[in-house]
Amino acid sequence: MITVLKPGTSQAQRDQLIVWLREQGLDVHVSEGSDYTVLGLIGDTSHVDMDLIGSLDIVESVKRVTEPYKQCSRKFHPEDTVVDVGGVKIGGGNFAVIAGPCSVESEEQIIAVAKAVKASGATLLRGGAFKPRTSPYDFQGLKADGIELLLEAKKETGLPIVTEIMNANHLPLFEDVDLIQVGARNMQNFELLKELGKTDRPILLKRGLANTLKELLMSAEYIMAGGNDKIILCERGIRTFETYTRNTLDISAVPMLHELTHLPVIVDPSHATGLNRLVEPMAMAAAACGADGIMIEVHNDPPHALCDGAQSLTPEQFDRVAGKIAGIREIFQK
Ligand code: PEP
Ligand code: MN
Repeated sequence: MITVLKPGTSQAQRDQLIVWLREQGLDVHVSEGSDYTVLGLIGDTSHVDMDLIGSLDIVESVKRVTEPYKQCSRKFHPEDTVVDVGGVKIGGGNFAVIAGPCSVESEEQIIAVAKAVKASGATLLRGGAFKPRTSPYDFQGLKADGIELLLEAKKETGLPIVTEIMNANHLPLFEDVDLIQVGARNMQNFELLKELGKTDRPILLKRGLANTLKELLMSAEYIMAGGNDKIILCERGIRTFETYTRNTLDISAVPMLHELTHLPVIVDPSHATGLNRLVEPMAMAAAACGADGIMIEVHNDPPHALCDGAQSLTPEQFDRVAGKIAGIREIFQK
């Protein structure tokens, strides 16, 4: 971290600041120019309050030269991380096709969708059991029964399962879940992240509705700081002023995150757009720009879905998209 002091800063003021910084465990390298004095702060600056330093009368500017996240940074781990989810590898050239309904609704529904998406090439089955709904009056998911039904579908098809956790107290129910999802609304539920950090379970961490990539990485860092490095990041669209689509897919997040972190990055074009006709082009864009996978909502009867019918593909539509993705992947790998 570099701190530039204002011209006219007295020796006493400067020394007082240096003592305070050293008290925080940092080494301070002083470089004196004709007008400005620059302090180079050396050591672990992740806990240093940059805004507080910047607010001091004698400080002209303050800048981080290293990122506040360490364990998920590519600088500290140059090779791609590959996460093994129930035998399916994700990252480092291994592409995941995750598909399934927004919510698990019944045994018939989840088994039918699981079989269909598997036949089209899906490698993991998704399905919400605990649903984070904007309205408390909307369908909240089948909860523990939903997880049981996902496990049934797993038994039928062999597909590892992905489902969302909203409360760390529910962890015992997730014992046999292959990939535990932290949804957009909980990306900064730090207590939940800390509890997941204590486990060795693969985690799918979705980007918050209005969160920066740095904030997403800091949330991943929470899980890693606890000792769990099995994390997959998911770009699922962010809130912008645009209203034609449910969210705005930040496709540039994929190559940017690949630059910043070694963790796999997947894209959810369903929640990103909210419109089933936009899922195919956005899924293709994700595959073309190097994403490590996609997650798509598929329902056997979208008009009657209890949640997110408008963005859900029919199994036939998914089959077409899966074929297009395979085509893009072939070109991409050449
Ligand atoms: C979901 O994937 O079921 C979901 C609720 O997505 P998000 O958290 O991205 O809104
Ligand atoms: Mn949904």
